[in-house]
Order: sequence, then C-alpha cells, then structure tokens
Amino acid sequence: MTTILVMGGAGYIGSHTVKHLLDNGYAVVVADNLIYGHREAVDPRAAFIHADLMDKASLDAVFEKYRIEAVIHFAAFAAVGESVADPEKYYRNNVIGTLNLLNAMRSHHVLKIVFSSTCATYGEPQYVPMDEAHPQNPINPYGRTKLMIERIFDDYERAYGLKHIALRYFNAAGASADSSIGESHQPETHLIPLVLQAIQGKRDSIKVFGTDYDTPDGTCIRDYIHVEDLALAHRLAVEKLDIYSGCLNLGTGIGNSVKEIITAAEQVSGRPCPVEYTERRPGDPARLLANNTKAREILGWNPKYTDIRDIIQTAWNWELKRRY
Ligand code: UDP
Repeated sequence: MTTILVMGGAGYIGSHTVKHLLDNGYAVVVADNLIYGHREAVDPRAAFIHADLMDKASLDAVFEKYRIEAVIHFAAFAAVGESVADPEKYYRNNVIGTLNLLNAMRSHHVLKIVFSSTCATYGEPQYVPMDEAHPQNPINPYGRTKLMIERIFDDYERAYGLKHIALRYFNAAGASADSSIGESHQPETHLIPLVLQAIQGKRDSIKVFGTDYDTPDGTCIRDYIHVEDLALAHRLAVEKLDIYSGCLNLGTGIGNSVKEIITAAEQVSGRPCPVEYTERRPGDPARLLANNTKAREILGWNPKYTDIRDIIQTAWNWELKRRY
C-alpha cells in the first residue's frame, strides 16, 4: 500500500484530502502542529504525528518512522490580512518551513510533492478566466510566499530531481457529503460560512464588501470550488507525479457574485440572511475565474459540484452539526 504524508492534514482542505485518500486505498500519515488545524478533523484511519515545519527534528522523525512515497503539503499560514500586518510570520513559516520540509524529504530520498498554491499568486487579473500562463504579480505577502515556493520547486527539480505539482486553488468551499468534516477557521473570514452563520443568528449580519464593482449586480464574482473536488485533484496529482511537474488551476470556471451566494444560501436554508452593505475591502478584484482546461487534461479531473446551491447545501449541513 502506498503511504502518503499529508502535512497540514488537520486543516480544511487537508482533512478532506486525507479522507479521500483513505477511501481510495492509500495509507495516510497526517503531520500537523494543530495551531489552526483540528485534531477532530483527522480521520481515525490515518496515523497522526505532531510536527511543525519550523522544528526540523519533528520533520525528520516523521520520515524515520514511516516509509513515505509522496508528500501533500498544506501546512501554511493563509490569512491575507495577517500576512500584510505580519509578513515575517508568513515568510518564515511558509517559505522557510517549506525549505525545511524539502530538506527532510531529500535526506530520506522522498522526491515527490503536491502543494497547495493559490490564485492569489496571479494578483490583479489581466484577463478572466485566468490560465496558468497568466502573469504572476501577487499583491500581498501571502501570495508572494506561495509564488516563491512554486519557484523553489522548479529549481529543486533541475538540481535534485524533485517532482512537484502546485495546485492553484480558487475559492475552496463546502464540506464533506456525509457532514463529518467541514470548514472551521478561527477567526472565520470566508464568505460562505459567514453567510450561513448570519442566517443562523450566530452573527448579526453579513457585510457585503462593495456594491459598485463592474459586474452585473455590482458585487464581486469568485470561482467557488467544492473541497471534495479539490481533494480528488490532490489524489490525481499524486498519481501523475511520475510524468508531470508544474502548476494547475483548480476552479470550476463558473463565477458567482456575493449577492448570488447570499440568495443561494437563503434558498438552501429556507431562511432570510441579514445583510449590511459596506465599503469595498482593499485588494479585492471584481472577478476571479479559473480556466481549468490544463487540470482537466493533465489529471483527467472533472469537478462534480458545478451548482453553487449544491456546494452551499453541504456547507449548511455541516454548519447545522459541526463538531469543531
Ligand atoms: N466577502 C464579503 N463579506 C465578507 C467576506 C467576504 O462581501 O464578510 C466577499 C469578498 O469581498 C470576496 C468574496 O466575498 O469578493 C469572497 O471572499 P472570501 O474572503 O471568502 O475569499 P477570497 O476571495 O478573499 O479568497
């Protein structure tokens, strides 16, 4: 049985990928420092080990204990606003932490990695939908850390033969179909959980950041991709590492505006959402949409969730019974 190490496997996308790998016959080792991750999110079928990217001995211990064939690397700080306020934290953990992980991998002759990258590496869109050849000019330290890591992979491939696939996610959304795991950030900043919590009365309202964008209803359009479709893409990527290294966009290519999300959430829950219209949030482009042709071709990936109501339904089911 092939053993995959999932760094950051207690986080949102990581935990869904762990479950998907286990459901598809892989053995999984989860390593996480549990700063933002949730121990309850880790499937009990996986081995769990407490490790931190900044603690080299803890990384070596993982590779000494288990015979790892490939690594999927989710472990990163991912709050854009915080990365602006405290870039040192982001460069240290995300970039130096990844160098530490790559070092441990090389010492143990593991040369395959699938990595969580982001559409934030593109920065302000010059055209939509964006393909992988779109210029990369990230506008915040978070996006810059992810871009630096993509470049490091290219150099490591040339020098050391590292096989790598960086998956550039658009907006991850939803929860597992069985509602056993889902999205839980502290603090929560993402639109869909905030809308669902406003509907439940757990928040006063949802603040819509800007209504004067150049879009049909004036609110921002994003490409929401279901977390289980992301999980599937990670497994397919692991299976392609022998024949492909590079970057792939993961989105549906379908856009939904903030107002459409609120309407869909009201339909799914059958309840009204209290809304407050406020100023734009700095750094938000009007539209972000993926061209996902390359991921479809290279991975044979076909996202299952193409209707935003189905995505929100899974998120709503999770909100009603969330465990963490
Ligand atoms: N958004 C909003 N109110 C919120 C949170 C987000 O209007 O409280 C908008 C945000 O401006 C963006 C979209 O919802 O257009 C998705 O934002 P999110 O933070 O979920 O993801 P991002 O696109 O920033 O990665």
